[in-house]
Amino acid sequence: MIPFLDLRLQYEEIKDEVQEAVASVMENSQFILGPQAVAFEEEFAAYCQADQCVAVNSGTSALHLALLAAGIGPGDEVITTPMTFVATVAAIIYAGATPVFVDVTPDSWTLDPAALEAVITKKTKAIIPVHLYGQVADMDSIMEIAKRHNILVIEDACQAHGADYKGRRAGSLGHMACFSFYPGKNLGAFGEGGALVTSDPAFTKKARMLRDWGQEEKYCHVMKGFNYRMDGIQAAVLRIKLKRLDAWTDSRIAAAQTYAELLTKAGLEPARQATHSTRHVYHVYAFLCENRSTVQAALNEQQIQNGIHYPYPVHMLDGYADLGYKEGDFPIAEHLAARELSLPIFPGMTKQQVSTVVAALIKVAE
Ligand SMILES: *Cc1c(COP(=O)(O)O)cnc(C)c1O
Repeated sequence: MIPFLDLRLQYEEIKDEVQEAVASVMENSQFILGPQAVAFEEEFAAYCQADQCVAVNSGTSALHLALLAAGIGPGDEVITTPMTFVATVAAIIYAGATPVFVDVTPDSWTLDPAALEAVITKKTKAIIPVHLYGQVADMDSIMEIAKRHNILVIEDACQAHGADYKGRRAGSLGHMACFSFYPGKNLGAFGEGGALVTSDPAFTKKARMLRDWGQEEKYCHVMKGFNYRMDGIQAAVLRIKLKRLDAWTDSRIAAAQTYAELLTKAGLEPARQATHSTRHVYHVYAFLCENRSTVQAALNEQQIQNGIHYPYPVHMLDGYADLGYKEGDFPIAEHLAARELSLPIFPGMTKQQVSTVVAALIKVAE
């Protein structure tokens, strides 16, 4: 059996340290935010090459807060791509704004800057590029267009902890960036978690208030806020994992290199990498195939776990039909979504495991 992701393997490595840290949170009973969250915020901001971090309870909350901190609400339009997890789009709707989609580029799977100008209107207030699968969008081009139109850029970096763009880190490239620490993400908590990262103190201040019921001081609610606070236990776990993230990412990259070598040798296409992406962190190893259901059945038969991220672009989902888009509107996203198959990839995956997966793919191709 080859797992899709081996979280147990990761736990074994940090077990003693985690148990000690969790016990210490219980001893001093600082369950909500507290010193662990404050320390994590500092460490994660530094990791992202940004000044500040606001620790929250999910990636979705981080996206919602980023939009609210920017003053975005009803009547405003926010541009993103339909090739994402629904949370990106849901957060725009939570803020009361209208999502506007543009297609992705086929080499990066991320927002196509060339498609932006055509949809920018007087109502456009922000762009949310999604660093899909662990690969950063073409941020220089996006930032240049945004600057010209005076629009904010919020990175959806929920899949891109530690990814680099032309040598610069995801989280430091837009005006704000949002991360998820859902357990399956490259940096995962032992429950829900998220963070908003920025170098603008005004956004940090507002996001901190909104995260904790709009309080400026205790019971002094200067605005209507939310309960979006991070747990102390999650912060303690994340601090331990953050120290190992680079080593774990290097292990994912090594597995991706083995995939690329073996797939290329077999005449199959490896996961795509855009030239601007100087560190793809392989949250997902995206393999494209024409006959996906056959390939998937063959992998399942050999107990090789796999996934699809995602079978439908957001504009084709029933729950989002009211946005007014239809099949055919975003041909590249639709083409990719119909063919993507996520192969197992995780820190500690062996060459032997990668080669077993590729052998199974070669067998179906024949
Ligand atoms: C996981 C994810 C989110 C949402 O994060 P949660 O922590 O699950 O709320 C948002 N956007 C993308 C691209 C994601 O992968």
